[in-house]
Amino acid sequence: MSKIKSVTPHVLNVDLKQPFSFSQWEYSSRMTCLIEIETVDGVVGWGECYGPSQMLKHIVNEMKSYLIGEDCMDIQRHWEYLYNRYRDYGQKGLIIEAISGIDIALWDVFGKILNQPVHKLLGGTFRTEVKAYATGFYPVKGDAIKQLAYEAQKYLDEGFLAMKIKVGFGVDIDYEYVKTVRGVIGDKAELMIDANHAYDSIEAIKLGRKIEHFNIGWFEEPVPPEDIKGYQECRRALTIPIAGGECEFTRFGFRDILANRTVDIIQPDTCSTGGLSECRKISAMANAHGVRYNPHAWGTGIGLSANLHLLATLPHNPLSSNPVNPMLEFDQTEYPFRHSIIEETIEQKNGYVQIPTAPGLGATVNRKVLEQYEI
Ligand code: CA
Repeated sequence: MSKIKSVTPHVLNVDLKQPFSFSQWEYSSRMTCLIEIETVDGVVGWGECYGPSQMLKHIVNEMKSYLIGEDCMDIQRHWEYLYNRYRDYGQKGLIIEAISGIDIALWDVFGKILNQPVHKLLGGTFRTEVKAYATGFYPVKGDAIKQLAYEAQKYLDEGFLAMKIKVGFGVDIDYEYVKTVRGVIGDKAELMIDANHAYDSIEAIKLGRKIEHFNIGWFEEPVPPEDIKGYQECRRALTIPIAGGECEFTRFGFRDILANRTVDIIQPDTCSTGGLSECRKISAMANAHGVRYNPHAWGTGIGLSANLHLLATLPHNPLSSNPVNPMLEFDQTEYPFRHSIIEETIEQKNGYVQIPTAPGLGATVNRKVLEQYEI
């Protein structure tokens, strides 16, 4: 037993050289909330929360009074206590995002104490490397078509075997974007699209039918997360697999998504849906329902590491001589401290990223970089 000595949220911010946009808003800066947990024996673990960072900092600062002095290895008990303590005010959203970062940091501590990588503790290794897909293609100011073609070629040249483009700008514009990128990559890479819930089911189906022949791997968030029936209509109307779930939370939220067969592929965000503890449960439910699981990822090296450990453990569904494997979402947009915040290198080679093998998350925070960007 080792007691928790401190829980510290760190908010990091950086202004971007070139703002970029998607179907909902523009990014001119990147921000995150990292969670540092230290035990009385000096073991330090890190987690990351996906969501509004300044608000998350306040929530974690309130939650920490429960954690300090508790056994750091009772991860499930802490999860259940925090969820129950705040259940009446937040079964989804900020409360769960805060718990997620805490949970990931506790798994990191757990792994460091036992001298094992987190994926071994989560159930073991199904794969030592995972195919990464490039998330990019966010329109910047200027000639969008030219930029998309350039980016597609760049990812191909870098070795990516899969990529995902942003849509949701209007059916005709989206069609041109998809046509451009498929034209550049041919059949050398998988191609997925993401509307960030910009459409209702009428527009989403119109777009889907228009681009079905481009062999689209999945259509992500065609409609808003609350529109369960809209998702089901898209699934029935289109041959493209429908994906979603980055705005859904916990085993309770995914219970309903899975039971209603809302999507073909669920995409819980490890840093917001409840952390590694909850993702393991969601993974078991997805497996039982025969639904694919590809985590959503939009974080720094800490969040990426957590996702890699989770990805190592996701079971084949079903297991066969040539099973389908889950993929890592690898954000390629500007994020100056995405990689420099940790000492280790997370890189894609020939389309694949290696699963970290060092104890815990296998990610060592660079204190200089932390200080540089902390606000
Ligand atoms: Ca997305």
